[in-house]
Amino acid sequence: MGYGRGIIVGHWVTLRRFLRTFFIGHGATLKRRGGGHQLFDLWPGKKKRGEEPTVQQDATTEGLFTVEYPDERLPVYERFRVLPVLVYDDSDGNVRCTCCNICAKVCPPQCIWMTHAAGPDGKPVPLPEDYYIDMDVCMNCGLCSEYCPFDAIKMDQNFELSNYERHQSHIFSLQDLLVSSEFYANTHPEAYASDEQVVERGKVAKKKDQRLQKALGVGAKPASNPKPAAKPAATPAT
Ligand code: SF4
Ligand code: SF4
Repeated sequence: MGYGRGIIVGHWVTLRRFLRTFFIGHGATLKRRGGGHQLFDLWPGKKKRGEEPTVQQDATTEGLFTVEYPDERLPVYERFRVLPVLVYDDSDGNVRCTCCNICAKVCPPQCIWMTHAAGPDGKPVPLPEDYYIDMDVCMNCGLCSEYCPFDAIKMDQNFELSNYERHQSHIFSLQDLLVSSEFYANTHPEAYASDEQVVERGKVAKKKDQRLQKALGVGAKPASNPKPAAKPAATPAT
């Protein structure tokens, strides 16, 4: 390629994109992600912003797409993952975590730590007394969730976690991390209903009950954790 030809081609690609976005078809390629035609948005009687069907951009879509966040939010894919959460069962309010420490061992940046709960005799029982994750250190890899043998830790999709304090509030404790099994089923319907997870849940519940009963003494009733407080609302990113 001769001198300067690459620069001209590069500029042509940019110019072509500009023309197709703003002029070709009288601006017909000007669309918003939330659906609808940008030019017609000014007309009365049109649907309000955010009420129109979401247009997903793919390789064949052309035009200028603007996501008017936070008024408009793109739906995330089910497997989109941000930070881990701990699941408790709606049926009995018990956390699934047995404090086995496997997630903390496999976590690459070592941002998980926890303490064991104690039974009436002072001996540890397979429940966490507290459980912490440093959200600033977590690299969203999902390994903790992959390795958990009790189906207790899952990756959540909430990405609006910014706030004005960078230290204490970024260390999430057990109460901050707990979500109900119903919440997980709603955010991950396909995974929750998959054969693999259905079988796993059945096995895990049995295994956990056995361990808990053994720790508390045969015939003793499993200790139940108090129902956790609702997840704190995250402050939207500014
Ligand atoms: S979340 Fe899972 S892997 Fe981590 S301590 Fe609890 S049971 Fe073990
Ligand atoms: S997602 Fe990865 S980095 Fe974050 S807590 Fe789990 S294992 Fe650690």
